[in-house]
Amino acid sequence: MEISVLPIAKLAFVDKILDEYKDDMGGLPESIKVKESEILNAKKTISETEQILSDIQEFVATAKKTLVSLKEREDKLTKQQFLVRNNKESDLILTEINNIKNEHGNLSAKMRSEGRKEENLLQLLEKQKQALVDAEEELISLHKQYELVAEEQGDDTAKYTRIRKKLKLQVDEALYDRYSRIRMRITDAAVTVKRDSCTGCYRAIPKQIIVEMRNQPNRIFECEHCGRLLIPEWVEVKEEDLE
Ligand SMILES: [Zn+2]
Repeated sequence: MEISVLPIAKLAFVDKILDEYKDDMGGLPESIKVKESEILNAKKTISETEQILSDIQEFVATAKKTLVSLKEREDKLTKQQFLVRNNKESDLILTEINNIKNEHGNLSAKMRSEGRKEENLLQLLEKQKQALVDAEEELISLHKQYELVAEEQGDDTAKYTRIRKKLKLQVDEALYDRYSRIRMRITDAAVTVKRDSCTGCYRAIPKQIIVEMRNQPNRIFECEHCGRLLIPEWVEVKEEDLE
């Protein structure tokens, strides 16, 4: 098999297209994963907020009943006070009434502060629910984008993969391995020379190499700076030449 730069130039051309397809799709599966975990977290946060809220609401409901019964006891004791027979009894009742008043006062204060907490939490919950709705809508749109790209690419990916398979057979095996090794560290492993420079790293190529490239069309040169394979400027690959 004659070593020629054209097949490898075609291969590089096809690889660039296939890489772009992969890139187009590339970000999407990751974005979908991120969005899905965002939704899970949002749901967890909402259920935590709802739990705290329900604890507070339960506390407030119980506290309301307690306040009523404290008030009833206080009224009862106040009435009893008129019926006392001695000072000692009166003092005892008075102390109890004071205790009840204190308890009532403390519980009322706690209820007010829990009430404010509840208000804040309700607002927070609304925001959290909105964030969940937004994230779910974003996920739907990501899925749509994914389907669209997959649909668009479907036929083309298959076409270029098929072309690539054919081209690979036309490339000298050792050269293909050389190309593959470079591709492991640089995606565009074979690049065109333009204005005597490597279009991979944009460094100038020595005049002498340029001359050699012209004189030895079947020899494959590589950029001494970045190691990419060099495709001479006069080698032009067109879409219609691929097949
Ligand atoms: Zn270079």
